[in-house]
Amino acid sequence: MVDEKYNNACDRLFHVRAQIDEAKQKAGRENEKVSLVCVSKFFSTDQIRPVIDAGQRIFGENRVQEAAEKWPEMQREFKDIELHLIGPLQTNKSVQAVKLFDYIETLDRPKLARELAKAFDKTGKTPKLFIQVNTGAEHQKAGVLPTKADEFIQICRNEYQFEISGLMCIPPVDEEASLHFSLLTKIAERNGIKSLSMGMSGDFAKAIRFGATHVRIGTAIFGQR
Ligand SMILES: *Cc1c(COP(=O)(O)O)cnc(C)c1O
Repeated sequence: MVDEKYNNACDRLFHVRAQIDEAKQKAGRENEKVSLVCVSKFFSTDQIRPVIDAGQRIFGENRVQEAAEKWPEMQREFKDIELHLIGPLQTNKSVQAVKLFDYIETLDRPKLARELAKAFDKTGKTPKLFIQVNTGAEHQKAGVLPTKADEFIQICRNEYQFEISGLMCIPPVDEEASLHFSLLTKIAERNGIKSLSMGMSGDFAKAIRFGATHVRIGTAIFGQR
């Protein structure tokens, strides 16, 4: 997944962007926007800065604590940074997450919805929300089960007046990702949800074919963690 032709993160970033453009073209989606969420978990601010200097502004982190240590300074310096939480969120970190992130991609249970609603009130901030769907129904994985997704979307909309911007999934490693991308697309369509966060370093071209609007790419840009 790390292309050895390129020996730094910026060159790999440009290469990934070119691959995204190519995948869009092949999918007949060249006029649609596909956002590259550059996943910077485990990488230091020293390693991230060159990528910001190269023009990248959208980043993903999977831990609130790690993000809180790395990002506030860069957020002050670069006002147009867009930070996405892509890892599981504990309810007791809701306020911190709402203050720090522009997108929370991992809303997956009523209790978290309730805490986020409180955090919105408390902070006056409203990050965009994606619901994570556990498309493979894996025990160890976060996300609402596909069979419960419609109901959970309704709860978010009706009880908390949330606008649900998108859905997110992480397919099981040992299964054909297409099935999961297609399932996520169907759930989004029938619920009138526009954005789809799916596809990582190994399968983002395929995800774009299935309609991804956000691809989350770490390894192909920063290298192995
Ligand atoms: C780490 C991570 C990614 C990036 O994965 P790569 O294979 O390194 O591109 C994407 N999504 C989530 C939820 C992650 O935790």
